[in-house]
Amino acid sequence: MALDPNCLFCKIVRKEIAANEVLRDDHVVAFHDLNPQAPTHVLVIPTSHAQDLSAFTAGADAEQAARLLHAAAEIGARFGPGGYRVVMNQGRDAGQSVFHLHAHVLAGRAMAWPPG
Ligand code: 5GP
Repeated sequence: MALDPNCLFCKIVRKEIAANEVLRDDHVVAFHDLNPQAPTHVLVIPTSHAQDLSAFTAGADAEQAARLLHAAAEIGARFGPGGYRVVMNQGRDAGQSVFHLHAHVLAGRAMAWPPG
């Protein structure tokens, strides 16, 4: 899948917009959220454009899907040794505001349940 010239997170993949990156490889880029909701709040995104989780159907790139989860786990272990939360907001009702698939990794404070 290609990059979308109008997508904010594709611009971060292409380094047209600066981000405070913590990890980058062929499959994913991870960077600190501009508006953190926890002491550590990192976003993990695929390096090719996908609007949301619905892109990860059975026929999708399984390696990229797996790498997204691996990266979230690596970042969680690094920043949240006592525990962390991984969130994917899917669609407007879930509060998704940027329509390039991403996982939030939140760490550094106790988390409430259920989420709001
Ligand atoms: P969503 O609401 O779609 O689940 O999450 C989008 C996230 O992207 C939000 O937490 C928001 O703060 C973050 N965000 C939006 N624009 C930027 C940006 O330009 N840079 C960074 N680092 N984060 C951004």
